[in-house]
Amino acid sequence: MDLQALLQAFIPSWTSVIMLLAFFTYLAIAGSILPGRIIPGVTLSDGTRLHYPCNGLLLLLLLVSVLGVGGWMGLVSPTAIADRGLELLSTTLIFSLFVTLLLYIAGCRSRDQSSSLKPHITGNLIHDWWFGIQLNPQFMGIDLKFYFVRAGMMGWLLINLSVLAKCVQEANLSRSMILYQLFCFIYILDYFFYEEFMTSTWDIIAERLGFMLVFGDLVWIPFTFSIQGWWLLNNEVELTTAAIIANCLVFLIGYLVFRGANKQKHVFKKNPKALIWGRPPKVIGGKLLASGYWGIARHSNYLGDLLVALSFSLPCGISSPVPYFYPIYLFILLIWRERRDEARCAQKYKEIWAEYKKVVPWRILPYVY
Ligand code: NDP
Repeated sequence: MDLQALLQAFIPSWTSVIMLLAFFTYLAIAGSILPGRIIPGVTLSDGTRLHYPCNGLLLLLLLVSVLGVGGWMGLVSPTAIADRGLELLSTTLIFSLFVTLLLYIAGCRSRDQSSSLKPHITGNLIHDWWFGIQLNPQFMGIDLKFYFVRAGMMGWLLINLSVLAKCVQEANLSRSMILYQLFCFIYILDYFFYEEFMTSTWDIIAERLGFMLVFGDLVWIPFTFSIQGWWLLNNEVELTTAAIIANCLVFLIGYLVFRGANKQKHVFKKNPKALIWGRPPKVIGGKLLASGYWGIARHSNYLGDLLVALSFSLPCGISSPVPYFYPIYLFILLIWRERRDEARCAQKYKEIWAEYKKVVPWRILPYVY
């Protein structure tokens, strides 16, 4: 593709606008009416709690089924997303800019003093737009932060499935593509199965909703996490059986650590006496879990996530750094995030955190970091 054709591929068409709006409308309507467990979020500084309808898995399965049937009946093209990848990317970027401009204006005009909606304005336009002004802005009763991250994760799966359909259409389905698709499918399905765990994550409890988060959810997650799939569409990789087994092991270990650690913390927050690996938990200062994965490193969940990310790229072999974009990005992000979280926890828990650091000296990888 020459440069002019490449640039043209980025120009949004009405079709991509309609596809995006249809997706967002579906998420808003189905998310509001489909049944699901209502999960109370963490208690905010003013004592209030938001409640999150965790029906994402049902939403996703329904959407994929409807699109699947539509594709089978010839009503929608299964390769529509893969065919319009670049213009969908620019359309989503424009949408993110537009939404965050509205969030900025609404935030500046808000007089609400609740923890969720209190405006945090520094006066630096770029800073306030980038990091956001309000913690939990809502639109028509929908919590936008929860909504956008859900859209991003579902968008990632839809892109992958469309890339898969393109591969099948071109009779180009490789073992690498099957591995990549399978790992991502399990990871995304798991995300929605345990969607309630999101309600206690850093993004939801601590970050305000600005361009950083909206762009991250809507553009970054779906379009960059799927790079391996796009890459495999155009590149061939021969994997040995040993490489496939090793790749599966990296995924499995990463997944068990990632899910296990996040689950242990979640369960601990709900019930601090719940058994961890069959034993009563070791607790520091009545608040911090220091057993299970949280007794091995202070963020072993990040280690698990990094191994999973690596397993998404290994099917692409080592001939190019491009498919390794996601694990490299995640490595940088999680190292940075761990530092920020550490500072937040040190401030919040004070001497209890210092004690926890003595008991569990490793940040992410035991004996290394
Ligand atoms: P965590 O889920 O690790 O949450 C950190 C918070 O947990 C702390 O602020 C503190 O909050 C609490 N906490 C920390 N240590 C303890 C302890 N020992 N006992 C009890 N509570 C503790 O962080 P994230 O939200 O950053 O990550 C969640 C998951 O999302 C991770 O698996 C991460 O890998 C993944 N992730 C993935 C990304 C991606 O792009 N793929 C991006 C970011 C995250 P409190 O004040 O409530 O106690």
